[in-house]
Amino acid sequence: MTTSDGTNGADVEAFQAKFASLQQKYTEEASKRFRPDGTSQYVNLADARNARIHDLGGDPWVDHAALNAKTSAVKDGGKYKFVILGGGYGGLITAVKLIEAGLVNDSNDLRIIEAGGGYGGTWYWNRYPGLHCDVESYLYMPLLEETGYMPKHKYSTGLELRKQAERIVAKWDLNDKALFRSEVTDCRWSDEEEVWNLAVKEDRGPEEGKRSLNIQANYFLVLSGVLTIPHVPKISGLEGFGGAMFHTSRWNYNVTGGSEEDQTLAGLEGKKVGIIGTGATAIQVVPQLAKWAKEVYVFQRTPSSVTWRGQKETDPEEWKTKIAHKKGWQQERRANWDTFLNYAAKPGQPNMVGDGWTEMPAYSAVIGSPTFGIVEPTPEKIGEHVGRVLMLDVERGEKVRGRIDEIVKDPKTAAALKPWYPVWCKRPTFSDEYLQAFNFPHVHLVDTNGKGVDSATTEGLVVDGKEYPLDVLVLSTGYRSPGYGALNPAKRTGIKIYGRGGRSIDDKWEEKGASTFHGVTSSGYPNFFFGPFGQFAQSANNVETLEVAADHMVHFIKKAEEKVGGLAVIDPTNEAEEGWAMEALKRAANFAALTVCTPGYLTLEGELNKPDEDPAEMMKKARMGIWSEGILPFLKVLEEYRAGDLVGVDIAPRK
Ligand code: FAD
Ligand code: NDP
Repeated sequence: MTTSDGTNGADVEAFQAKFASLQQKYTEEASKRFRPDGTSQYVNLADARNARIHDLGGDPWVDHAALNAKTSAVKDGGKYKFVILGGGYGGLITAVKLIEAGLVNDSNDLRIIEAGGGYGGTWYWNRYPGLHCDVESYLYMPLLEETGYMPKHKYSTGLELRKQAERIVAKWDLNDKALFRSEVTDCRWSDEEEVWNLAVKEDRGPEEGKRSLNIQANYFLVLSGVLTIPHVPKISGLEGFGGAMFHTSRWNYNVTGGSEEDQTLAGLEGKKVGIIGTGATAIQVVPQLAKWAKEVYVFQRTPSSVTWRGQKETDPEEWKTKIAHKKGWQQERRANWDTFLNYAAKPGQPNMVGDGWTEMPAYSAVIGSPTFGIVEPTPEKIGEHVGRVLMLDVERGEKVRGRIDEIVKDPKTAAALKPWYPVWCKRPTFSDEYLQAFNFPHVHLVDTNGKGVDSATTEGLVVDGKEYPLDVLVLSTGYRSPGYGALNPAKRTGIKIYGRGGRSIDDKWEEKGASTFHGVTSSGYPNFFFGPFGQFAQSANNVETLEVAADHMVHFIKKAEEKVGGLAVIDPTNEAEEGWAMEALKRAANFAALTVCTPGYLTLEGELNKPDEDPAEMMKKARMGIWSEGILPFLKVLEEYRAGDLVGVDIAPRK
């Protein structure tokens, strides 16, 4: 029988049966993984009471002697126009945009406070072997046009990504603008002076110890990142493990041998190495361990979705003539890529990047799509929408699982490596080496069937009553969820924030939930801007999101200063902010597909999947939503706003 649209009725029935059994499998697999302790199953390294676990969070790369020998960029009692928290790509992009907007004119106008011992953020802290960006470097690396840099490969190494941060620092003369090894701990708006008072703790290393500084800023911009707080699961006995142990974000080359430049991990020769975790980090690390260790044990709770990668060297000719061939090429390339991820590519549209990401339109379930419109928050419409994105993901899911059968020779291992959840539940990964590594006889998958590692002993790890003796344990167990604290910038950053009248931003969030104007500023906290997570649009290319946000923050400041003819006090009104929250609320139903997810950091380890009994709490959560139409339509909304006169924002000259 053939249906009116030309499809065969039997095919439709077969698809429907497959779809139903797939959803049942997804539900079964997810239900194995929900835990009552949610996010509290982890401890942040910095908060661990056990000294060994706590010290795993230290900075392995800092050169205290070199930094102590330099004249400090920031003086106690110093007054600066702009203070940026965070020396990662976000902080650097924002600094460059402030400079390019002509807002930085005096040597005391700009300072950056960074907890690490150097610039780079993610690419400073993470130096594990195998580290690369997972978004094409031509799209991901910031300010490529301005720096005139050609990435060596389609996917750059962590080292090359850090060097790009250093290139930006050199080009915009930011070398003497940062205070490294320093954390902002507390910031208070002074209603009298109309400045931010910032409390900073600098760690000058074992010789000189810590010192406290108090500084002032007219504008305080927080670019503290999304995945910056490494954590480990509270596995009983972990601190007593007898071998060497470290977290991937603080790779210990003293143990493994080699270095960031030379990834010869000769220190692992003859060693039994265990790795806990199979997320995007482990996908890159495991093939490197496999090259050197005698035995590798991969402890898996949930498998990643691993698609083809297609790494290749950049062809200078192609770069010149087809990629970086005109002004504005990077933005055009990003936009082309976005349309595929946002399920908005037109039929026949060229696919400039042609990577694995562009084959997953269902990823739009978490980053939005103009194709879906705004989903009405009725059970019927929500069900329809969730069904639609699940359908969109069926073929990809089947391909990913089929690829495992093609690559992994041992059928039991292949079966255990199969991910049973839709693509948007965890960051999809891309590798042409990870699955292949399981064909080596010395690489062993220890699948915990969704339960995780039971415990650790002095000798190794225990799963299902069996002890696996290990010499070295790599903790590839990720970071505190970026959604922690319902997007509250104080919670995300670990600082205390007090605005007008001394009001803590925690109290504001507690009362209302997420409260921002355009995702980057909050009423009652004048001249305070922050890197967005919710109430903004997101791209799978985080640098794109950071650039869009930086343009917007800089616009507020530039236009306000032009209006008042000097330093300004910029504060969105309550009404404008509530109006913006309504926009997020209106779009919340678009992200209902997260409720079918297996736990992970996107759902606060399953805490977001639980229906809240209290409707007020549910409303608060819904305010965290992101722009459901995706980043390109969002950009238009911001541009339209910027053509106006800073509507919804109180602007006054600084007293
Ligand atoms: P970060 O790079 O995290 O920088 C924030 C900085 O703020 C940190 O250096 C931190 O030390 C500092 N800081 C935080 N709190 C304080 C405080 N209180 N005081 C002082 N300093 C503070 N995204 C992609 O799109 N593509 C990728 O390929 C990709 N790969 C990644 C790989 C890894 C291993 C990780 C962990 C993340 C990856 N990401 C990727 C996400 C990545 O974090 C972003 O792409 C981007 O680099 C974030 O830049 P950022 O400046 O916002 O944050
Ligand atoms: P993840 O949070 O993605 O992974 C942590 C891993 O640890 C998961 O596999 C988790 O299992 C596992 N785990 C946690 N507790 C236990 C336990 N008790 N027993 C066994 N396993 C456990 O962290 P990553 O560092 O891998 O990645 C974080 C993010 O950083 C990525 O999502 C991505 O955005 C970014 N990134 C990007 C990379 C790139 O390619 N450029 C590389 C690295 C990271 P479970 O899934 O069941 O929770």
